[in-house]
Amino acid sequence: MGIIIKSPGEIDIMRRVGKVVATILHELARRCRPGMTTGELDAIAVHELERYGATSSFLGYRGFPASLCVSVNDELVHGIPGKRVLCEGDIVSLDFAAALDGFHGDAALTVGVGKISPQARALIEAAKGALDAGIAVACSGAHLGDISAAIQSFAEDRGFSVVREYVGHGIGREMHEEPQVPNFGSPGRGPLLQEGMTLALEPMLNVGGWRTKVADDHWTVTTADGSLCAHFEHTIAIANGEAEILTGVDQ
Ligand code: MG
Repeated sequence: MGIIIKSPGEIDIMRRVGKVVATILHELARRCRPGMTTGELDAIAVHELERYGATSSFLGYRGFPASLCVSVNDELVHGIPGKRVLCEGDIVSLDFAAALDGFHGDAALTVGVGKISPQARALIEAAKGALDAGIAVACSGAHLGDISAAIQSFAEDRGFSVVREYVGHGIGREMHEEPQVPNFGSPGRGPLLQEGMTLALEPMLNVGGWRTKVADDHWTVTTADGSLCAHFEHTIAIANGEAEILTGVDQ
């Protein structure tokens, strides 16, 4: 199918859905506290989606049973919300995507529940910084590999590994479009970035090795060695030559 370039009008729609995704995601992050269940977070997401007239991109996707992915501690992505109770010191990765007027937005973040360890704090900061480093080099005329390399070196310079099995992606009328955006690679490689491309960048960092495994529920991905992990994601557009974050919030 190839990379789909969006028109300025389509990017406008993606700005709107991106804002909805960001607003709901930050509300969810704000509400994470010890004693609440991951299922309660999903219920909030469902309620908020309805309020904005948007639909979940996850619910029913390949049979996924919820509107939000909630992954705790050594769980990396695709955690199914349910009865699990959040505890002081946990770190929680929230991955959330929604559709509005035919276009998707996708974003993720990792937050601490109450007081977290210095190592968990450093991991979260490195994952967030890796995403920022990737976005910083995304502009017209750069190569996709420049993003991958920037993310990888930022993470590895801080002593964390980057997951290989799950990668970022193009996004638009489909949640997953071409190209894949790996979190590892070499500068100067891969397709050229150009005006109208819309991408979800999503570094996933582990304290231990980069390998992952899938749990018995066939969805939840955990680190293979049980180490802590973190995940940050933004949907961006290459607009006016630069990376514009579509899933940012005004703070
Ligand atoms: Mg994504």
